[in-house]
Amino acid sequence: MDAICDKCGYDFRIESVLVEKVDENVSRHYFCCYECGEKYYYMIVDEEIEKLLLKQKELQMLRHLALEAEDYDKYEDLLEEYEGNKDIILKMQDELKLKCSV
Ligand SMILES: [Zn+2]
Repeated sequence: MDAICDKCGYDFRIESVLVEKVDENVSRHYFCCYECGEKYYYMIVDEEIEKLLLKQKELQMLRHLALEAEDYDKYEDLLEEYEGNKDIILKMQDELKLKCSV
């Protein structure tokens, strides 16, 4: 994943992602600009979101298997579920951001 720092314009490749706790159940994932150290948050998760993210990984794997088996109906169903979850996760993250005022 490549990124350009908004602050100093440095163009860099994100190699490590760090995690910081917001409270007991909530954490934020972020990376830093290697040049100026500016922090960029890109994901906030709580237990519920983490569970959904795991589920998403599973759905991706199943989708891959369905494609290999040429089971396109199943593939479409899995894709639909995946896309639906994606919207739910984004909404949950927005709510979480508001709740934690970050
Ligand atoms: Zn920078």
